Amino acid sequence: MAFDVDLFVIGAGSGGVRAARIAAGRGAKTIVAEEFRVGGTCVIRGCVPKKLLVYASRFADDFSDAEGFGWSVGAARFDWPRLVAAKEREISRLSAVYRANLEEAGVELIEERAEVIDAHHVRLAGGRTASARHILVATGARPEPPRSIAGLEHAISSNEIFDLATFPKRLLIVGGGYIAVEFASLFARLGADVIQVMRAGNVLRGFDEDMRQGLRDELRRAGVELRFGCLPTRIERRGAALHVALSDGDALEADQVLAATGRKPNTKGMGLESAGVALDAAGAIVVDRVSTSNVPSIHAVGDVTNRVNLTPVAIRDGQALADRLFGGDKRVVDHDNVAHAVFTTPEIGAVGLTEAEAAERYEVVDIYETNFKPMKATLSGSGERAIMKLVVDAASERVVGAHILGHEASEMIQILAVAIRMGARKADLDATMAVHPTAAEELVTMRRRAARIERANSAGRATAGTGRNA
Ligand SMILES: Cc1cc2nc3c(=O)[nH]c(=O)nc-3n(C[C@H](O)[C@H](O)[C@H](O)COP(=O)(O)OP(=O)(O)OC[C@H]3O[C@@H](n4cnc5c(N)ncnc54)[C@H](O)[C@@H]3O)c2cc1C
Repeated sequence: MAFDVDLFVIGAGSGGVRAARIAAGRGAKTIVAEEFRVGGTCVIRGCVPKKLLVYASRFADDFSDAEGFGWSVGAARFDWPRLVAAKEREISRLSAVYRANLEEAGVELIEERAEVIDAHHVRLAGGRTASARHILVATGARPEPPRSIAGLEHAISSNEIFDLATFPKRLLIVGGGYIAVEFASLFARLGADVIQVMRAGNVLRGFDEDMRQGLRDELRRAGVELRFGCLPTRIERRGAALHVALSDGDALEADQVLAATGRKPNTKGMGLESAGVALDAAGAIVVDRVSTSNVPSIHAVGDVTNRVNLTPVAIRDGQALADRLFGGDKRVVDHDNVAHAVFTTPEIGAVGLTEAEAAERYEVVDIYETNFKPMKATLSGSGERAIMKLVVDAASERVVGAHILGHEASEMIQILAVAIRMGARKADLDATMAVHPTAAEELVTMRRRAARIERANSAGRATAGTGRNA
C-alpha cells in the first residue's frame, strides 16, 4: 500500500521535532503538524523561559549578598514587562531555529491541529487528510488544575504566567511539585509576596526526604509563606483583586492564583480510542520499551506517554524511534538513573534512588550525608545551607542515588550521573581528588557514614531527617 508519507508526527515539541528531523535525515518522507508554536512546551512555556526567569530572580540574591563582600549597591528596581519582552525575543529566536532545522532536514511543517483517524490516517484541522506508514503522537501534556476549586476560571496556569501584562505583587501558588516550587522561589526573589498552598505535608513529593526538608527551609528563608494540608475552595474576583477561600477556613487576597497541581497527557479528542490505541487511567498512551503503542503503526514519545516527563527523555526517545523505524537501529533508551533538577534557589539535583526507595530495594543501605554553610554564605551572611547525600547499596558498595541541595546542584548532578551510570562505588568517589575550594568537593570527601538502614528494620529510618552528621 502506498502512503502519502512515511512518518506523520503530531506535535512539534521536544520529542516530535527530534523524531521528525532524524526520520527525514534518514530519507523518510515526513510531515510534522503543530497547533501552537514550534518548539513545544520546553521552548515556549517550560524549561527555557523558566530558566531565564530564574536567572533574573537570582540578581536579588547577588545584590543583597554583595554588601558582605564590600560592595554598596543602590536601590535596585525590577521591570517585569522588560523581562517578559526579552524572554519573548529569546524563545522566538529558538522557535525559529527549530523551524529552520526542520526545513533543512526536509520535513514538511503544517501549522494546524492534527488528529488520528485510524492506524494509518491523520486529519488536519483545515480538513486535509494524510495517510502515513507510521504515526508518531508527540502531543505532550497540559496543566491540570484541581477541579474542586469553585471559580477556577480566575486562576492561571504555567502556560499564562510567563506573559502576564503586570507583575503579580501578591501571588498565590497552588501545588507543591517542582514547577510550583520553582515559581515560588523565583517570584519571591523578583519581589512578589508569595503564599504557596498544597494538599501534602511538604513540598516535592517523591524527592528524597532530606531534600524536601532542606528546600522547605530555603523557601521560607526566601520569604515564601508555605501552608500545608490546605487548598483553595473558592476564588472570586473582587475588583482588581482575587479573593480566595482556603480549606482551613482562612481567606486571603491575591493578584494572581497560579494552579500548578500537575499535568495531564494531551490525548483528549485525538481520535486515539477510535483508532484502538490503549490509554492508561491517566489518559497516557501506553507504549512498549521502544515507544510503540498496541497499534503497531502508532507510536508515542514524551509527556503524552507519562513515563519520565522531561525534555531530554522526550528527545532521546524521539531519536531512538526514528533510528529504529528508518535506520534499523535496535537500541532501547534506558530510563533508569535519569538525572533531574529543580531550579529553585538553591537548586536540587538528583539522580537514582532516594533513601526510602533504596531501603525498599536493597537489604542494607548506607547513607553518607553532609549539611553545611556554603563558603559564599560566610561573608554574605545569607544563612543558607547546602545538603549533599549519597545513597549506597552496602552489598555492592555502589552509589545508587545522589541528592544535592545547593547552588549549581543541576550542574553537579549532570556530571555525577555519568559516574553513577557507570556503576561507581563509594570507594571510587573517595579515591577521586577534591577540587578545592568548591562545594562539590564534599561529594568526594564524605568519609563518615551517617546511617545504615537494614531492610528488616528500615521503617522510620528511611524517612529520618537531615543533619545526622551535620
Ligand atoms: C513550567 C514547566 C517547566 C519545565 N521545566 C523543565 C525543565 O527544567 N527540564 C526538563 O527537562 N523538563 C521541563 N519541563 C517538562 C518539559 O517541558 C516536557 O517534558 C517536554 O516539553 C516534553 O516534550 P514533548 O515533546 O513530549 O511535548 P511538548 O514539548 O509539550 O510538545 C508537544 C507539542 O504538541 C503540540 N500539540 C498538542 N496537541 C496537538 C495536536 N492535536 N495537533 C498538533 N499539535 C499538537 C503542542 O502545542 C506542543 O507544541 C517543564 C515543563 C513545564 C510546564
